[in-house]
Amino acid sequence: MRITPAVAALCMGTLPRAAHATTPETCCSALETTALKSQVIYPDSAAYKTSIGSYWAENVQLEPTCILQPRTVHEVSLAVSTLVAADGGACKFAIRGGGHTTWAGANNIVDGVTIDLSLMNTTTYNEKAGTASILPGSRWEGVYETLANYNVTVPGGRSGVVGVAGFLLGGGNTFHTARVGFACDNVVNYEVVLANGEIIEANKESHADLFQALKGGTGNFGIVTKYDMKIIDDDKLWGGIVTYDNSTTLQHLEAGHRFINNLENDPYASWIGMWEYLSLTDQNMIANALEYTAPVAYPSAFDDFTTIANTSSSTRVANLWNLTQELGQASGYRDVFITASFVNNLDVMKRTIDIHNRMIEEAKAGAKGDDYTMFTMIQPWPKLFADHSTEQGGNVLGLDRFNENLFQVLFDYSWKDEADDGLFNQLANSALEELTTYSKSIGADNEFIYLNYANSNQNPLSSYGPENVEYIRTVAKKYDQTGVFQNQVPGGFKISAVAQ
Ligand SMILES: Cc1cc2nc3c(=O)[nH]c(=O)nc-3n(C[C@H](O)[C@H](O)[C@H](O)COP(=O)(O)OP(=O)(O)OC[C@H]3O[C@@H](n4cnc5c(N)ncnc54)[C@H](O)[C@@H]3O)c2cc1C
Repeated sequence: MRITPAVAALCMGTLPRAAHATTPETCCSALETTALKSQVIYPDSAAYKTSIGSYWAENVQLEPTCILQPRTVHEVSLAVSTLVAADGGACKFAIRGGGHTTWAGANNIVDGVTIDLSLMNTTTYNEKAGTASILPGSRWEGVYETLANYNVTVPGGRSGVVGVAGFLLGGGNTFHTARVGFACDNVVNYEVVLANGEIIEANKESHADLFQALKGGTGNFGIVTKYDMKIIDDDKLWGGIVTYDNSTTLQHLEAGHRFINNLENDPYASWIGMWEYLSLTDQNMIANALEYTAPVAYPSAFDDFTTIANTSSSTRVANLWNLTQELGQASGYRDVFITASFVNNLDVMKRTIDIHNRMIEEAKAGAKGDDYTMFTMIQPWPKLFADHSTEQGGNVLGLDRFNENLFQVLFDYSWKDEADDGLFNQLANSALEELTTYSKSIGADNEFIYLNYANSNQNPLSSYGPENVEYIRTVAKKYDQTGVFQNQVPGGFKISAVAQ
């Protein structure tokens, strides 16, 4: 007998009995019997194809049985109630914000319903309250564009195309983090649809436990249908992308290492160091995103970088919308993100780039396709970030338990040819493993894994520390007693997947 997964499951007694079996079509039909009928779309429609094609990474463009595109919080509520009740609770569904997670199944599903929030995408400026109300299908570029009409902004994505919803639920590193904490620390109210369809507001006064847990706890509690964020009064910055020859790597690492330790002296400054290989031009270069969150050209905080001879620079005074248009990579590639955090140690930084260069050589030797990009990004993650989170009321990331300045590495590989899936995933995993092993050998490791950059084989929630894990677990249980967001919504990082 050939052992297929179904046969194996039968042998292990794990196959659901026929009486409890569902077909995903039943779940789509259940939605169609409600007022949501016009918002349910199928693979034969143009709207369905547009929705799938708008996922950022090609490898996550799974094809659900149907997609639901709600327009209001009441439609989200009706959708959740319907899917929870249909077919004895056997319907599986996914929640999609901007669709930027790079691992398949986080924000989409094959046999089931995807709730695509993209039609709920407006931003409203509440001048009196000093807040902006942002709907979950928004991209940061739309948020910034609307708020620029009032010369205000919010701390959000550094690439305009990125989705708001997942970004804010995982933390959100921004140009302003050294001044105001993570993006999630600046959310003052969440509107949430719970598993029973109830619509609630979570803020400091009402459902304060959920309010706290949503700041880093991702989709474990419900569907967030509105984020109210504190605004920042001025939206003008100085900054841009500055490129350099790869031969300046050591100067950059030394500059970056000092920059991280000096950030507390000038928290207006922000640096992303990007080591970037483009296969089509066989170009291996360094690109710095230098941003200053005030309209001041060449502030001294960047002196160590600006004294290195560059090959191009787009620095200018501009608003956040403008600056976030140039930071980002082409969509339509297959992609893997994988990340870790380290103590701000120059030797770990050097090893990071040694590994980057070696992985490029391995890709050149093994890639079947000729179009791929390999990014290794170094980003400051100083203690200052967590101090601001605490000042703002706290989140569940657990960074306040570390006393050192950290930096974060993101290996981000993109490729066109599906035949290279195995190669680039293997290279990304090996790169991280080698770097982590090295950092441990010199006592410069750190356990924090940033959820928004994490790969499916990582467990970022477990890196928040035992107290936060327990807190998230308790809050998830309180607001979702039957575990709908653990079981019926399989995508994303689940608190139930963290060991007790
Ligand atoms: C080009 C690019 C640039 C980036 N830049 C940054 C950056 O500057 N800083 C940074 O911190 N990160 C950055 N990221 C990472 C980014 O934060 C994550 O990819 C994040 O998940 C994007 O949000 P999204 O809405 O697109 O997520 P999605 O992939 O749509 O969703 C992420 C997870 O959240 C769940 N979810 C989505 N919406 C909801 C909701 N309304 N309620 C409940 N659960 C929900 C989904 O089910 C999924 O599990 C970047 C990513 C890319 C691809």
